[in-house]
Amino acid sequence: MRLKHRVMNGILFQIGYPRVRRIIAKQKSVSDIPTALTSTSNSPTRFEIPLEAIKLMKEREDIEMKQTFPMRRMMSIMKNINLTIDSIPDNPVSPFNGTNGDFIDSLKEFAYSQGVDIIHFTKLPRDLIFREFGVLYDNAIVLAMEMSQEKIDQAPSQATFKMVFDTYDGLGIAGNRIAAFLREHGYAAQADHPLGGTALYPPLAQRAGIGYVGKNGLLITPKFGSRIRLAAVYTSIQNLPDSKENNHTWIGEYCKVCGLCIKQCPPQAILEETVMHDTGIKTDIIQQDCFEYFIQNYGCSVCIKACPFSKGIDAYERLKGVVEERLSS
Ligand code: SF4
Ligand code: SF4
Repeated sequence: MRLKHRVMNGILFQIGYPRVRRIIAKQKSVSDIPTALTSTSNSPTRFEIPLEAIKLMKEREDIEMKQTFPMRRMMSIMKNINLTIDSIPDNPVSPFNGTNGDFIDSLKEFAYSQGVDIIHFTKLPRDLIFREFGVLYDNAIVLAMEMSQEKIDQAPSQATFKMVFDTYDGLGIAGNRIAAFLREHGYAAQADHPLGGTALYPPLAQRAGIGYVGKNGLLITPKFGSRIRLAAVYTSIQNLPDSKENNHTWIGEYCKVCGLCIKQCPPQAILEETVMHDTGIKTDIIQQDCFEYFIQNYGCSVCIKACPFSKGIDAYERLKGVVEERLSS
């Protein structure tokens, strides 16, 4: 093992591991709040990427990361994950639970001013809360932030890796600011960070009508394809303007004939046939195969690059035309 690798492993294991464990324990502590909504027996288990990566690096000499971690970004990300929980006591004692269109407009405007690209609303089903985690409210504000097309096109690379962390951090900061904005206006809120959220974001964002979950397991949106990161803010506002329908279900039809992500996934970790679990959760990815490649190769992102929807809104309209023609013939 190279010296640099050994030093990196030592730092990650001695400092990173306990720090990440503390953050996870803090996130889980929300489920102890008597009024919190908790997971169900159908809920997924959160895959703890940082802990699993550190463990794998320690156990396997052949595992070696090529990437350099953007340390300042990582510190900011950890600070902002902590803040999602540390700011909960700032909620008003008797928060408002109803709002009007004017406030929703100002909320959206504020979110856009913080760099958020998409904001939609939905109810969070308890089945989407990760096991052992909890949230304060099921009224979900779902947020998406674009990832740079130029940098995604360079995947897997250090430039892509850095941009992904920049986006995680930017969206995490925006989520905490949106929670603070809600509190200033008399509502209670709990921000949920894009990295290590307490709920499964892609199906939540699909429920919110932002897009549709593709074969690559990621949400595909009209404007950015899979080039997004997702986050949420849960709030006491019960009458959020829920998206009642999803206009992007046809994307599933396109995935059936496309398969580009399956072909281009370097470790061939995307399954041809979806596995459906008793809980209703679908599996399209062999997690361990993806993970081992992902942690050694700049967080990969090849399945985002490969997806034709990631090329922008023109692609969305063009591919919709292809599916409509196919279904009508
Ligand atoms: S991130 Fe990479 S390894 Fe994982 S499924 Fe996507 S293309 Fe495959
Ligand atoms: S690459 Fe093709 S199959 Fe994969 S998610 Fe995108 S559209 Fe679907």
